[in-house]
Amino acid sequence: MTSSNPAPGPDAAGVVGRLRATFATHRTVSAKWRRDQLTALRTLLTEHRDDLLGALAADLGKGPEEAYRTEIGFTLNEIDHTLDRLDDWLAPRPAELPERLLPATARVVREPLGVVLVIAPWNYPLQLALAPLVGALAAGNCAVVKPSELAPATSAAIARLLPRYLDADAVAVVEGAVPETTALLAQRFDHIFYTGNGTVGRIVMTAAAQHLTPVTLELGGKSPVVLDPGTDLATAARRLVVGKFLNAGQTCVAPDYVLAIGDTARDIEPHLAEAVRETYGADPAAAPEYGRIVNERHFDRLTALLDSGRTVIGGTHDRATRYLAPTVLADVSPHAPVMQEEIFGPILPIITVPDLGAAIAFINDRDKPLALYAFTDSDDTKHRLLTETSSGALTFGLPVAHLTAPDLPFGGVGESGMGRYHGEYSIDTFSHTKAVLDKPLDKPLG
Ligand code: NAD
Repeated sequence: MTSSNPAPGPDAAGVVGRLRATFATHRTVSAKWRRDQLTALRTLLTEHRDDLLGALAADLGKGPEEAYRTEIGFTLNEIDHTLDRLDDWLAPRPAELPERLLPATARVVREPLGVVLVIAPWNYPLQLALAPLVGALAAGNCAVVKPSELAPATSAAIARLLPRYLDADAVAVVEGAVPETTALLAQRFDHIFYTGNGTVGRIVMTAAAQHLTPVTLELGGKSPVVLDPGTDLATAARRLVVGKFLNAGQTCVAPDYVLAIGDTARDIEPHLAEAVRETYGADPAAAPEYGRIVNERHFDRLTALLDSGRTVIGGTHDRATRYLAPTVLADVSPHAPVMQEEIFGPILPIITVPDLGAAIAFINDRDKPLALYAFTDSDDTKHRLLTETSSGALTFGLPVAHLTAPDLPFGGVGESGMGRYHGEYSIDTFSHTKAVLDKPLDKPLG
């Protein structure tokens, strides 16, 4: 068994053709095949844990604890959750029929779509390639996985290992950048699952339209944090720092900026500075669990944002090692450069707003975020944020955590994406929900 790395062009058609021939054998439909694939993926992650941690360190300077928890452990949880519940999820669901169709029976059946494409980004290069694959395989599909070329060590590990553990005629890995992805996108898939930025999301959706292929777009954007007066600011600061500076801020659901109501802006500053020191020590450059910026282009983009406000903590950087300190900026204007696009790095701007109404107006003036976070003790504030704003997810008190709960759908809305996955939502994404009606020929029509 070998990995599939076609040159751009006709080889993409060859890979898809090979997978389509496998799908046509119907072997991927059986629950046993699905379970075998998930179990094999589990074994791969366990047996090659150290290889994978090495690749993640090489690509993003990820420390072993964080890399294990957010990439390998995360995917193992997704596999285990799926294996535990797969029989229930695949069981046909009886449906009621109107009187005039009786006697007859009806059920709703989830069937695999066929051959799907998973396109992954660089920031969680293992998790974001494999967690969608868990859903695709659990739903009985063949899949092409296209890892990100910006995380080359992880991409190479995925290409080397997947065909050794999984059904290599049902799962192919295609490495490469724009030309290879373009060649893949010219093929007809039965679903395309893309994670990355919205510009490429539009390219993916345009290509998918040629074949009427449904898409899931897991995109990003600026996820705000609302700070309500009266909340415990020391706890809020600690939880914000953990969510923001994970993976050096290169997390799609990282808190992008803080909307601090009234005096909370000034009051949280010392707590944030303290929380950074508590989490990463006096010199985060020496902290084994603090990551690095993925490449020089992103490093230069981020350091150009540093004079968008008054530095509360951080601001130091080193291009040679692509280190950018955990940074908090205060007194930031909504017109500052740091507020124009998703930051996707370890810079946390604080914007002061007079009241909750102004915070809600600020959020609603912008694209719908992938996540909205709030620290508040007020049920009224919670209710207003729930009913007066729209976002992929809404989390009170613990940024980023929602994506680790597999019973919660994960996805965006508007500019932050379309579709959702994790747990049973992945089965929905990668299945066709088929209506089946059975009316006996020897029974009368109503
Ligand atoms: P990236 O540069 O790795 O690109 C993502 C994928 O798109 C890669 O596999 C790449 O090869 C492919 N690609 C790039 N240009 C292409 C083109 N012109 N045609 C076809 N394919 C192309 O990653 P990125 O886009 O920089 O990722 C960061 C973005 O992704 C951020 O906006 C982040 O918020 C978002 N993101 C979202 C999620 C989520 O789950 N919603 C998760 C992670 C990242």
